[in-house]
This record gives sequence, C-alpha cells and structure tokens, in this order.
Amino acid sequence: MERRVRVRFAPSPTGPLHIGGVRTALYNYLFARKNDGDFLLRIEDTDQNRFVPGAEEYIIETFKWLGLKIDEGVTVGGPHAPYRQSERQHIYRQYAEQLVADDKAYYAFDTTEELDAMREKLEASKLPAKYDAASRMSMKNSLTLSEDEVKERLAGNQPYVIRIKLPRKEEVRFHDVIRGWVVVQTSQMDDKVLFKSDGMPTYHLANIVDDYLMKITHVIRGEEWLPSAPLHVLLYKYLGWEDVMPQFAHLPLLLKPEGNGKLSKRDGDKLGFPVFPLEWKDPSTGEISSGYRESGYLPEAVINMLSFLGWHPKDNRELFGLNELFEEFTLERVSKNGAKFDLNKALWFNHQYLQMQSNEDIAQYLIPLLSHNKIEAETNYLIKVIGLMKSKVNFANEIPEKGKYFFIAPNSYDQSVVQKKWKDFVPVFIEAYLNKLKNLTEFKNEELEETFKSLCSEMNLNAGHLMQPLRVAVSGELGGPPIFELLEVLGKDEVIDRLQKAVKNIPVCT
Ligand code: GLU
Repeated sequence: MERRVRVRFAPSPTGPLHIGGVRTALYNYLFARKNDGDFLLRIEDTDQNRFVPGAEEYIIETFKWLGLKIDEGVTVGGPHAPYRQSERQHIYRQYAEQLVADDKAYYAFDTTEELDAMREKLEASKLPAKYDAASRMSMKNSLTLSEDEVKERLAGNQPYVIRIKLPRKEEVRFHDVIRGWVVVQTSQMDDKVLFKSDGMPTYHLANIVDDYLMKITHVIRGEEWLPSAPLHVLLYKYLGWEDVMPQFAHLPLLLKPEGNGKLSKRDGDKLGFPVFPLEWKDPSTGEISSGYRESGYLPEAVINMLSFLGWHPKDNRELFGLNELFEEFTLERVSKNGAKFDLNKALWFNHQYLQMQSNEDIAQYLIPLLSHNKIEAETNYLIKVIGLMKSKVNFANEIPEKGKYFFIAPNSYDQSVVQKKWKDFVPVFIEAYLNKLKNLTEFKNEELEETFKSLCSEMNLNAGHLMQPLRVAVSGELGGPPIFELLEVLGKDEVIDRLQKAVKNIPVCT
C-alpha cells in the first residue's frame, strides 16, 4: 500500500535557525505540498546542555513570517503529540532496552577518564580512537562484565550509557534520493551512545524512534547528517522497522559566496548580508545578529531565493511564488553539489518582488519607519512617491533615504551642477518657468514638460542645459525619477517654493 507522504523538520533549539536550516524546512514543506502529504515540526531538545531559550519561538516566528504552514507538530498539535522530544522522554527507554535484549546494544559504565585513557592509548598506536567492536572488549560494559556485576551496577544506580553494538565488519548500504547508493563499512563507524542514565535518549535514538512512531516517509535534511545515516539504517533494521524505513535525501551544503566552505555568520557580517531569517539577540551575550526580515527582505523573495540554492526548475524561469514552487518541486532536481550563496541574486529577487507589491502595501510598511525618523508624510503622497521610487531600489526601506527630497526640501545642491552648469541664464529661466507654473491649472507631468519646452524655445535656450539645473533646484541631487513626474508629485506650491529658494541661494558660475 502506498503510504501517505509525511516529512518533518526536526531542529534542535540550540540557537537561531540558520538560513541553511530554513532551506531544509522549505524543501520539506514543498515536498509535502507537492505530494499532498503532511509537514511536521518536531523539536529535538534531548540535549539539555545545548538548549538556548527563545530558539524554539524563533523557529515558529520564522515559519509564520515565511508563510510555511505546519500541519502537525509543536504549536498545532496532532495525533502523535507531544512533538517536543523533552516531553516524550518516557517513550525512548523501552526501545533502548529492546535493543539490549536483542543483543544489538549494551550497557557501558566507563568513566570519562577511562574513555580518555582508551582514546589516548589507541592514538598512541596510530589506531582510530573509537569505541568499537575491537576496543569495547577492553572496556567496562555488559559485554565484558559478568551478568551479576551488570545487574549490581544498574541496581546501584551507577551512571551508564547504552551503546549500539555494531558488527565488526559489515557493509551498510542505503539509497539516498539525491546521492544515489551510499555504502559504508561498519569498521569505519563507532558504537554510538543511544541512551544515557539521566533517562534521555541521544539524538540518534530519539530521531529514529520518533520518525517511526510519527510515520515519517522521507527524511530530507542537510548533508551534515549524512555520516549519521548508516547508523540510522542499522537502527531501523535492529528495531525491526526496515519495511517502513523512510527514504533519505541529504541536501547539499550552503556555501560561502566564493564557494569554499560552509556559509557562516562571519561571511554574512563581512559581506553585509544576514545568515539568519530574523534578527536574533543572543540571550547570554546580548550580541545582535541581523535578520532578513529586519533588513527589509520580503518573505516571498527569501523563499524564492532559498528554493534556488540547491534546486532548479525544468526551464529557465526564475520567479516562483510558494504555490508555484509546490507544483515544480522534485527531489530529483536537487543538486548533489554545494550551493554558493549569491548576494546579488538575493538583492535581485527582492527587487523583483518589491515591484510586485502594491504601493499601498509598501506605504503601510514605510509609515512607522518614517515616523520613527520624524518624517511626516500623508499616505496618499507616500503612495505616489513609492510609485516613482520603487523601481530604483531593492528594498522598500531605501526609499526614505534615496528619495529624501520628497520629504525634505534640499538645503545643499549637487556641486558639479552648481559649479559648472548654473550659468547666468539658468536662474533667469527658472524664474520665468516658476511664474508660468503659478498659472497652470493642471499640475501634471505632461503640462509641466510642455510648459518647459515651449519656454525653452520662447527664450531660445537649449533644454539640455536646463534639465539638470531644474532637477538639482528641486531635489538637490542628480539622480532620481523622471523630472516632470517628480515635479508633479512634489506639487505646485512645494515646487514653486523650492525653485524660488534655488534662484535665491545658488550662485551663478562663471
Ligand atoms: N535535530 C537535528 C537537527 O538539528 C535533526 C536532523 C534530522 O533531520 O535528522 O538538524
């Protein structure tokens, strides 16, 4: 029988979710949607030493911002609740004990000192420092101690761990959807700890037990988990769950822009882009790391950008909304090779999605930002400014700075124009032009241009010598939207005011 597709994102709340993790969540989500399956969020917090307060809330907030809907898991519940491993603690012990009973795992009582001594000894003989089929026979565990002694130690609450008992030499093979066949020898692996006497399972055991109980069909996760996969495959086999073992898909690493090495927070700091979806304040140091959201990225742009870091569609199309990605996404088109982060591409995506946003929505976003900067602007005016400026920026939050002159009259003027182009005929022309503007009934870009041109020919002046001075007179700057559209949005009174001020203040050059 075909099983219903069920995938999970299973982060450990050890800090802010990296964008690589967001991409893993996104690919899981797309895969679930594409296959009419379920997307689960499970929190893997068995390692209490690495728990960071706020990290789980951060993940949930990220999903909300990106619009990734959780079908089952923390915050939404579901038939396999609870979905936080620390609340499932009572579940795991029986599986560890089942493995011991089946001779697939064993109790180990070694102290830290004994473990260190074992490693040192092996290293000194140039052997791999592993707890494995060879070295375990000289350690303190239920394979070397008598049955009575093991019982005594357990009854006396002596600290122990349960380790998997790997065969000395066996081949582990499994098929990875992205990487094909993966073959590993157990002689390369070690007897990993599955359970600790504090009652907590380790990642490996909890992860396998939960994937089994939650009926997960596909494990889609980062490449850094590939070395753990052979152990997981053996656990499925030893627990008798081989027939429902999920399919594995290990995603390529997210690489630094230049391509060598994993994308780190330091790369982001150096090159000026966030590596976290949301701003994060480290609860112990207070250090702030920037986030895509606070930097002004649109969630649609972040989703589209991340979807392309390691995956590509059938054709050359680049813009995909979340719903379109559902249609297109397949694991077969995920690449094996690491995906280089590309800042220019991230900016390009944001620019594209900004153009698709309505001016009204952008205005709503900018209003608090403007008032924070003590700039007052009527919403209708702001909407018109956005209409002229959005094609010139990658982020909405660049508009108040790049289009400063829409909100504040200039008090300095571009020097290249002042010193070279503000000839004696310029103020004469501008004065005449502003007088004509006073009589205009329609203050529209066409009339403004018309008036400008006819005045130029009337005064026998070259329009080309007057455009830049006119622009600088009203905005102080050289760049910007088409000049007559700029004048229209500024409005009659403001334009006349600014032109008068420019005529009065800018000295004629010789
Ligand atoms: N808890 C692991 C993590 O932090 C989950 C890995 C997996 O998906 O199996 O990424």
